[in-house]
Amino acid sequence: TLWGCVGLPAEQTIFAMDTYITLKAYGPGSGAAIKEAAEVFTEIDQLMNIFNSSSELSMVNAAAGQYAVQVSADTFGVIEEALNLAYLTDGAFNPVIGSVSKLWKQAEMLSQVPDREQIQQALRFTDYRKVILNSSNKTVELPEAGMIFDLGGAAKGFAAGKAIERLARYRSIRHVLINAGGNVVVYGGHPEKRPWRISITHPRKNERFLGTLEITDGAVVTSGDYERYFMQDGERYHHIIDPATGYPAKGMQSVSIVSSDSMQADLLSTAVFVLGVSKGLAFLEQYYPEVGAVLVDGDGAIHMTPGFGERYGWR
Ligand code: ADP
Ligand code: MG
Repeated sequence: TLWGCVGLPAEQTIFAMDTYITLKAYGPGSGAAIKEAAEVFTEIDQLMNIFNSSSELSMVNAAAGQYAVQVSADTFGVIEEALNLAYLTDGAFNPVIGSVSKLWKQAEMLSQVPDREQIQQALRFTDYRKVILNSSNKTVELPEAGMIFDLGGAAKGFAAGKAIERLARYRSIRHVLINAGGNVVVYGGHPEKRPWRISITHPRKNERFLGTLEITDGAVVTSGDYERYFMQDGERYHHIIDPATGYPAKGMQSVSIVSSDSMQADLLSTAVFVLGVSKGLAFLEQYYPEVGAVLVDGDGAIHMTPGFGERYGWR
């Protein structure tokens, strides 16, 4: 085997950001390096997890309607990107969906759909255009009590990108794969001198794959309705919310995005899920022509961005 050239992989699995994260790196010193990279996920969790009451983002949420809060460059950067996408998608992606997404998180634990009235109330606090950012001193302000940031659609992708950047700084480390619960990031190709092969989970037959694609460097991020959901009266209620209705987005089973940028892939997978097939594909073509996507619609039919199959060796 060619692995002899680069040594055996170091591998570590941790639990952070509400998911299992596996890091694998090949090259001298990879053991220590992946420990360091794994810490990135706990760091970002402590900054951006709204279910951790001491996180930076929780501080911003707690100060809603009162004052601006200074945050780290990381948190500020993710908020900025998330808001940019909110403007670009006219709110289909909405990082201020917290008042509503928290209701659904609770609903999932109770397996009980929230009252329509509760959802209507919560929706009044989701206007992302009201967020006040100050980039010179990195402060963030939610001007109304009841507004809640939720960066759950971007934080994992951001962390995975940052973790791989850290590993790439080690010149001895030649090949890396990080899988953070459906957010896959790779670097340097497979040690057998071929691209990495990344399989995408079938949204309805979870033990089977939808297909496999090949990339050397970059990210593949999937958002689906099949991992966090509950059923009530034959309806599936999942965790990706259409901010226009306050209910789980309809018409899509999963969206996988392929991009050189991990956070961008995470942001776009959630955004395109909400936009749906036709608007989602048109949106990507207009604003992100470099990005690849595989969509599974509500009937299980597969849609792809032009040239996807050839470009990524999709099988
Ligand atoms: P996962 O985190 O399960 O990999 P996603 O990246 O699609 O999946 O993110 C879903 C999370 O994003 C939700 O759990 C919630 O925190 C947040 N979210 C839900 N709906 C939206 C939305 N319309 N815009 C932005 N974030 C959302
Ligand atoms: Mg996402």
